[in-house]
Amino acid sequence: MLFQTFHPKPGQETRPVSQKVIGLIGGMSWESSAEYYRIVNEGVRDRLGGLRSARCLMWSFDFAEVEALQHAGRWDDATALMIDAARRLERGGADFLLICTNTMHRMAAEVQAAVAIPLLHIADPTAERIRASGHRRVGLLGTAFTMEQDFYKGRLADRHGLEVLIPDEADRATVHRIIYEELVQGRVEAASRQAYREVIARLVERGAEAVILGCTEIMLLVKPEDSAVPLFDTTAIHADAAVDLAIAGFTPSPAAP
Ligand code: GLU
Repeated sequence: MLFQTFHPKPGQETRPVSQKVIGLIGGMSWESSAEYYRIVNEGVRDRLGGLRSARCLMWSFDFAEVEALQHAGRWDDATALMIDAARRLERGGADFLLICTNTMHRMAAEVQAAVAIPLLHIADPTAERIRASGHRRVGLLGTAFTMEQDFYKGRLADRHGLEVLIPDEADRATVHRIIYEELVQGRVEAASRQAYREVIARLVERGAEAVILGCTEIMLLVKPEDSAVPLFDTTAIHADAAVDLAIAGFTPSPAAP
């Protein structure tokens, strides 16, 4: 039977609650946005079963425009782009937003202030998982912006009580270069994997109990076996947290799913 009529028994009336619409600000780069799209859909299917998939919208930037503003230090212009994307998704019906990159959380507060729907900050579910695993001192890999500026490390420390170690200057340059010259361009090189392994090992030597893959493309290069300590992949954690939020309270009605 294709369609069923929904007849709740007396006392069992449940009001159908749809999945929330996930608004993804993506394209930074699309290599990781594709992972977000896969993970939110797999997550909904795994949790709800059958033919269920995520209700989502994605705005996907031309990353060249974003990258040019980042490296020119034109953060106000970059913020305006991000706010524009957030508003487009809000107008399109998103119930909440994800910025699908760690770096562009630099302007998370401005983006949140520009819309009425909530922004799920990537650092929060990441830090919650780290704390739940019992770790407090973590290494952070990401773009130079993420590793060196305070918007990300500061949130991990101030809101979540984590102690954050970043690689030394030469290692930060290597990590940053591989992100922009390779990973966001879809290149995954064995030599770069080895370089990341060595950077991670040096963070572990300095006392890191876990390492945050704080750039959404690093998971394309580095796997758990590349590290002696647990890795916290922000792409998977962020997308997974979005699924939890999207299906919270979900009560399907066979007649009006
Ligand atoms: N996706 C990366 C990140 O998570 C880098 C690209 C960007 O600069 O947004 O930070």
